[in-house]
Amino acid sequence: MNVMALSLIEVRKLSGESLTQSDIEYFRNKYGKRFVRALQVVEENKVTKYLFQPSNTATWIVKGRTRQYMVIPKIYCTCRSFYQDVVISREISMCYHLLAQQIAEIRDLYHTINSTDVERRKMYVEWRRTD
Ligand SMILES: [Zn+2]
Repeated sequence: MNVMALSLIEVRKLSGESLTQSDIEYFRNKYGKRFVRALQVVEENKVTKYLFQPSNTATWIVKGRTRQYMVIPKIYCTCRSFYQDVVISREISMCYHLLAQQIAEIRDLYHTINSTDVERRKMYVEWRRTD
């Protein structure tokens, strides 16, 4: 079971045109403040999907307060909370960047930037930082 993925019921709730009060309550109970923050970054257009050619690969980036985080959907995020709270202490199943990426993809609320593999190598130096 992949606990970093939203359940089908959650995906269905998020697919609706607008979230109902009870949906928001459900998510807040389950994910706490992280859900509110995730919604906020999605609404602030801070989720970007880079598409690189010629490899035709995608990289998702979520802009945090001080830097950008690379998110591998449902698997990984380069932020400190992912390392400390998800991997080490297992207190939570997802950081808010992982949540935001899924919400953005479900609700189709992200930028797409087309770029090249040469550029990707340069950007990865910054994106792969985990400090
Ligand atoms: Zn994160």
